[in-house]
Amino acid sequence: MESKNSHFLSQTRSQAQTHTTFIQAMLDPNADFGGLYTFPTITPFDDITRLYELEYRDICKEVFKQLHIDIDSAILESALQSYNTFRNNNIAPFVKIEDNLYCLELYHGPTFAFKDMALQPFSKLLDSVATQQKQQYLILSATSGDTGPATLNAFANLHYIKAICLYPKGGTSEVQRLQMTTQDASNLKVFGIHGDFDTAQSTLKTLLKNEKFRESLEKKGYKLSAANSVNIARIAFQIVYYWVIGKELFKQNITDFSVVIPSGNFGNALGAFFAKKLGLPITKICIASNPNDILTEFFTTGNYDIRHKTLYLSYSPAMDILKSSNIERLLFAYFGAVRTKELMESLDTKLFFTLTKQELAQLQETFEAQSFSDAECLHGIRNAFVNGYMLDPHTSNAYLFAKQRQHATQETQVIISTAHFSKFAKAVLLALSSSNANDIESLNDKEALHRIIQIIQQQYHTPIKLDSAITELFTKKEVHTTCYEPNTLQEHIITWL
Ligand SMILES: *Cc1c(COP(=O)(O)O)cnc(C)c1O
Repeated sequence: MESKNSHFLSQTRSQAQTHTTFIQAMLDPNADFGGLYTFPTITPFDDITRLYELEYRDICKEVFKQLHIDIDSAILESALQSYNTFRNNNIAPFVKIEDNLYCLELYHGPTFAFKDMALQPFSKLLDSVATQQKQQYLILSATSGDTGPATLNAFANLHYIKAICLYPKGGTSEVQRLQMTTQDASNLKVFGIHGDFDTAQSTLKTLLKNEKFRESLEKKGYKLSAANSVNIARIAFQIVYYWVIGKELFKQNITDFSVVIPSGNFGNALGAFFAKKLGLPITKICIASNPNDILTEFFTTGNYDIRHKTLYLSYSPAMDILKSSNIERLLFAYFGAVRTKELMESLDTKLFFTLTKQELAQLQETFEAQSFSDAECLHGIRNAFVNGYMLDPHTSNAYLFAKQRQHATQETQVIISTAHFSKFAKAVLLALSSSNANDIESLNDKEALHRIIQIIQQQYHTPIKLDSAITELFTKKEVHTTCYEPNTLQEHIITWL
């Protein structure tokens, strides 16, 4: 049932046929009624094993073709060349941890977190389109830690794009902060904000909606866009790496598997869901949460209720979230635009929505969820370390979930690893050492990493070395050091341009 218009996207809150292409939605992600653009009905591949014979970049081209994503092949090809900057030729290495338990490592990009998987090709795609249009873009992003570095690195030195990143001063790890403040490309600007991530995020949203701000930008020749994770182009690139799992397991005659994903804004998990729709044999998509357990509550009770929730600052900050934006696309895929609009409007105005029993049952055919405390998170890091594998605090939540499921299932499980441990030195040291928390709190990341390395060498009896991209951060000059009041940003941005 292929409609002639299938290369147009759907909107999550309107049944009206759009004429919005993937590229247009990438440039302007706002759909009608405050909704999002998303893929219309997805047709599975006739023969998935054909994809297993391809290398990463070619799998991406096939996936995009099947989704009717309409991009000039030379432009897509050059965007995919951005994966050449990855430290591992496999782009997303697939590692066996123990029997029936594997890890797909998504942190071998330039900023050591899974955000690189999408932002690297996304930025090049955007730049090609901007260059074709001879239109300059200003990209704004707000970060709790990983999106910022990945955005800055991806957009550095592009011609038609300037990128600005807002981050909560004091709200990121030191490595994350240095990854931003030492970025010296002239088309990049970093603003530390007084306040927490919510302040940074709401400052961003206010700027994006501000018509006067847009006008002043247009006068300077810039259009405004956002690189946040609701951009459909980022989701599209996050479908691809799940095929690596199918391909690698197929070599071992394993044909189906479940994935366990440390989740926050639900972009990574949505990629898995779309891959399943395309025919990849994923049995269950398992959502791991930290103490901010909104997703776990949603998938286990059908209630999405933020009325009595407050954000808890955990050891896995990229999962500290109350409003998980990509759930909206999941609702659309299951229940259609009319129901999605109803549910999302309830969330917007009443701060909650509730699925019916049948709706919840439908989701639970594919999704499971579980949340873990900070203490459990540290325990997971320690446990994996003793068994020979290093986890970051985010991935630890997924590891714990997989270990828990192991008792009840014979399934082959794949943990999606979202960051390298060195980005979160203090939490990892807390997990591995016997020093007390105050002691560790007083260290800087460089000292904490040094101690971690010593502990690892003692345990494994092999010398290990941190990547120079991490160690060099501590000697690089910090160029973006000023801290700003949110209400003065507009002025500062215009001046900077
Ligand atoms: C962004 C991020 C996540 C959460 O991914 P979502 O797509 O927002 O669910 C998990 N772990 C790390 C390290 C991240 O940077």
